[in-house]
Amino acid sequence: MLYLVESFYSIQGEGRYIGVPSLFLRFGGCNMTCEGFSCTEKLKDGTTLLGCDTIYAVNKEHFSKNWTKIDDAKELLSIIDSYKLPNKPVDIVLTGGEPLIYANDKTFVTFLEELHARGHRICFETNGSIAVDFIKYPIYKKCIFALSVKLSNSAETYKKRVNVNTINSLASYSCEAFFKFSIDVNSIDEDLEKEMQEIVSLSPNTQVYCMPVASNKLDLEKNTPALIEFCLKNNYTFSDRLHIRVWDDKKGI
Ligand code: SF4
Repeated sequence: MLYLVESFYSIQGEGRYIGVPSLFLRFGGCNMTCEGFSCTEKLKDGTTLLGCDTIYAVNKEHFSKNWTKIDDAKELLSIIDSYKLPNKPVDIVLTGGEPLIYANDKTFVTFLEELHARGHRICFETNGSIAVDFIKYPIYKKCIFALSVKLSNSAETYKKRVNVNTINSLASYSCEAFFKFSIDVNSIDEDLEKEMQEIVSLSPNTQVYCMPVASNKLDLEKNTPALIEFCLKNNYTFSDRLHIRVWDDKKGI
């Protein structure tokens, strides 16, 4: 069984395909919590939860009542059919949460195969820590992976966030992959540079994008100048977060 949090047709806001019209499907659940990103969500009972900017797609305990249970690939395909898309295939972005927690789910794999058969380009936004079986499920070889490997600023343990074999395999066997790191001004130092160099060395030919940690426009503007300097120094590609710059903290756009 899968959980779908939301879907929306918009432009890709970050990474290599920034600006490209894309249909987003956000899946519920994640194998991390990334409390280091310090985004908060206040519940009706006054409780404040700490996590990342998509905490509503991560925290099953508090948010799964709003998620849609999916038992059949046809349900996901009918969601796609409900959008007025251009009369040609578009990018389908599978995000979360962590969409690869469903990597071995039959419904999920059938859905991917149908998307590919319809000519859509399939783009995963993943933390790069969950292995994919490229032999059993060759459809994954046709997918693009944005590898948002988490850094120490996520407050997750190294062992949990950096899975050497998985990063290698996703970068090597997929048709396309790129790194996409989230960085805030306070975490930029020599340790961060070293940590990133170590991760990037796992797949040295994979392009590196760095984007500001932000859940709203204010954070985005605060973290951008130092991150551009960091990118210039290290020859990484700066990625804006266009959706935040345009729509601030509005979700599902
Ligand atoms: S891995 Fe991504 S979705 Fe999961 S908690 Fe961390 S930032 Fe959020």
